[in-house]
Amino acid sequence: MSTAPTHEADVVIVGAGISGLIAARTVLAAGLTPVVLEADDRVGGRILTQDALPGLPVELGAQWIGDTHHRMFALAAELGVPTYPQYDDGETSYDLAGSGVLRQSEFHSRFAGELAELEKVFRLLDELAAEVPPEAPWLAPAAAEWDSVTAGAWYDGQGLSPVARTLLEICTVGILAVPTVEVSFLHLLFTIQTCGVTSELFAESEGGAQTTRFVGGTGEIPRRLADLVAEHLVLQAPVQLIEHGADQVTVTCRGGLVARGRRVIVTLSPTLAGRIMYDPPLPGVRDQLTQRLPNASAMKAFFIYDEPFWRADGLNGQLISDVGPARMSNDTCLPGDDHGVILLFLEGEQARTYGRLPHDERRAALTAELVRHFGDKAARPECYVDGEWADRQWTRGCYNANCGPLVWTTFGQALAAPIGAIHWAGTDTATQWSAYMEGAVEAGERAARAVIAELT
Ligand SMILES: Cc1cc2nc3c(=O)[nH]c(=O)nc-3n(C[C@H](O)[C@H](O)[C@H](O)COP(=O)(O)OP(=O)(O)OC[C@H]3O[C@@H](n4cnc5c(N)ncnc54)[C@H](O)[C@@H]3O)c2cc1C
Repeated sequence: MSTAPTHEADVVIVGAGISGLIAARTVLAAGLTPVVLEADDRVGGRILTQDALPGLPVELGAQWIGDTHHRMFALAAELGVPTYPQYDDGETSYDLAGSGVLRQSEFHSRFAGELAELEKVFRLLDELAAEVPPEAPWLAPAAAEWDSVTAGAWYDGQGLSPVARTLLEICTVGILAVPTVEVSFLHLLFTIQTCGVTSELFAESEGGAQTTRFVGGTGEIPRRLADLVAEHLVLQAPVQLIEHGADQVTVTCRGGLVARGRRVIVTLSPTLAGRIMYDPPLPGVRDQLTQRLPNASAMKAFFIYDEPFWRADGLNGQLISDVGPARMSNDTCLPGDDHGVILLFLEGEQARTYGRLPHDERRAALTAELVRHFGDKAARPECYVDGEWADRQWTRGCYNANCGPLVWTTFGQALAAPIGAIHWAGTDTATQWSAYMEGAVEAGERAARAVIAELT
């Protein structure tokens, strides 16, 4: 017989990512007792700050917030985590659709017409996205039509030149982390709508969602939140079974630990939420939804040099390319530290292909790409770090989950709607900045408020 303890609480919260921690804090502030069950041996989930060198942290997970991430700015201020702006001086290096490596000024003057084409598509996307209600995308006037084509097919139908089409694909995969042929056009419009407008999302240079970073690393946010609910947090408690009735839940973890409460808030990505066993079983529509919401494919790779040598060459450390393994990069140096840090993104097919290579082969391929854009000095990093997410048992892919064709219109209503005593949170259920930390906070607060209203 198991000797594992039983926790009694008002609200059981599954997952100690930022959404679960926010839900716990909100429940606690309302005078109710939460217990947070986290599978991993740490909090933070898709936020993971790790030292690349002593005192030099890099973000293997979430890194930036943007100017309209108001909840995150407020949270950082409340938790006493200062922020600083993303470095953005200098030119981006391009290599697109056979252009060869070109600096931004030359690329922009040579391809001004193509960039104007792109701008037109962005304006059209903004217009169409404005018709999508973020809390119910299936109610958009043209939902059926938009959900029956992929974003890729819609892009292909815009008559774009190769440079414009390639750039559009790179910008979009940079957000969705899957090829645009895997995502419904309605989902793309929903994503734009939850973030405001395309200029918030698709900023070619830094901007939009990537203006600001946290002193000490993003990991400071979940760490400090966890301190506030420390007495109510259980690590290494993977939830396997949720038994639920009208006003009670019994949540059982691997190893036998049990938590009992009146409500449960599940904050996992939909696909992981679907791997928990529910008794009684959930309605078929909910399970069919979670069967169809795969986590995307992205990973980050960091090269650390003794100095940011590219800055002296007038470059900002960003590349945009369809040639090598990484489609984009960033200067992610730390203020007050002399090291030069470049972050390369592997997203969509690149993450799948290069993520599965042996570490040294991946590093060599990425090094070659950096050298093409930033010169020979790029071949001599002091240190290299990368972080895979598909292999992580409690994440299984990132940045988020994307709906393929017909998912929103057929199953979307089951995404966030509570089922009896079970409530759903996590960034994928958000209506503002879904897929981002901002969305995780919104969803955690929304689910907690709903539960508080039911219990008080
Ligand atoms: C590489 C990368 C880069 C990113 N960049 C940014 C960025 O720059 N800006 C931004 O805003 N966002 C970014 N994001 C997205 C951001 O990290 C997420 O939107 C946010 O952290 C999600 O929080 P969450 O609480 O909803 O989910 P999660 O962080 O996934 O939390 C879910 C928690 O549940 C736990 N769990 C899983 N299964 C179980 C189980 N069975 N039982 C108990 N616990 C379980 C997990 O361990 C995890 O801790 C990035 C993500 C990644 C991975």
